[in-house]
Amino acid sequence: MRRVAAIVSPWSKRRAHRVVALENVISSWTPEVNYLVLIQEAADVERIVDLVVRGVENLGWIEGPEIELGDVVMPILGKGSVDVSYRRSDVHHTLFLTNRCNSNCLMCSQPPTKDEDGWLVDEAIDIVRHIENSPESIGLTGGEPLLTGNRLREVLDEIHLRHPMMRIDLLTNGRLLSNRGTAAALLDGLEARVAWLVPLYGHAHMLHDFVVQSPGAFEQTLEGILRLQEHGQPIQVRIVLIEPVLERLIDLCEFIGKSLPFIHEVALMACEPIGFALANKEVCDLDLQDWWPTLMRASRTLRRYGVRHMFMNTPLCALPKDLWPLAVRSISDWKQVYSDECAGCSVMDSCSGLFAWHERGWKPTKIRKIEEMVE
Ligand code: SF4
Repeated sequence: MRRVAAIVSPWSKRRAHRVVALENVISSWTPEVNYLVLIQEAADVERIVDLVVRGVENLGWIEGPEIELGDVVMPILGKGSVDVSYRRSDVHHTLFLTNRCNSNCLMCSQPPTKDEDGWLVDEAIDIVRHIENSPESIGLTGGEPLLTGNRLREVLDEIHLRHPMMRIDLLTNGRLLSNRGTAAALLDGLEARVAWLVPLYGHAHMLHDFVVQSPGAFEQTLEGILRLQEHGQPIQVRIVLIEPVLERLIDLCEFIGKSLPFIHEVALMACEPIGFALANKEVCDLDLQDWWPTLMRASRTLRRYGVRHMFMNTPLCALPKDLWPLAVRSISDWKQVYSDECAGCSVMDSCSGLFAWHERGWKPTKIRKIEEMVE
């Protein structure tokens, strides 16, 4: 989510609004949606005030160089800014459901809090209602979204109702799905198109439980994965490449190939240098180039078992060339940058680049521009 400068009509409250052009307000109007008209000329404000006076209450106006038509924004009252909760022109879209979590991962990018934050689910549902053109996919994340209980199903059903063709990428540790009742309440009759993104950090409980700092998590996550499989749900296993994980990565890939053959795909991900990762720098801050033989072997192992896999958050110069075809541009638009060293790199267009906060943390490798495109 971005926070950008914008002037908003003084009567507009902190709730979701769809940004529209004045000429489209009447044709697209519905009482369920709040609208902010993007001002093009001074006279527009008078036209909107006139409509509001005549009883069109869910209408206001907005002005700002970074505001785009189709955005869903939340005004920050009295601050001259808005949160852009959804930007139509972005490739990646995410809704944040809770900051609470039942794990404490060593490299967590969003350290959990204990506060009750059910209002985040209300906001997410409100944002879903305000998105006009369905994007191809949207991410749901936390914290741990399963901690929102029945409300998670509410969010999934709302997305399916408003955007039936949209894919939902749901990031969850899966632990609560080990309970058959919880799994049934969430998954029975589910119509939304969900891809379940479930982190797994080891082939044995000692390693996984250490990385997520939660005894018993390995067994619960595996049971959760099995519940998803029983319900025919597609699962992507996520592996964040920190030192203890890399040390036993081949064992983990073997385990997935042998014991979880129904997995849809595996995502191998560079660590995001923020949150708990900064506090656990000794195991999170590494140069992926030092692990190229391990990455090559891991890829070969997964390929041997016919497991589709990819590398995420990894700049191309952090990978051996043989693995470049498996690298995807996965960093969300608003947090993706390139560094000064990237200037003139021949593969920049297909490179995922770096997290915007890499300067405060670290880069996943020593950045070195690629002089020529490899054939
Ligand atoms: S130099 Fe920059 S653009 Fe080129 S591969 Fe590395 S990170 Fe990507």
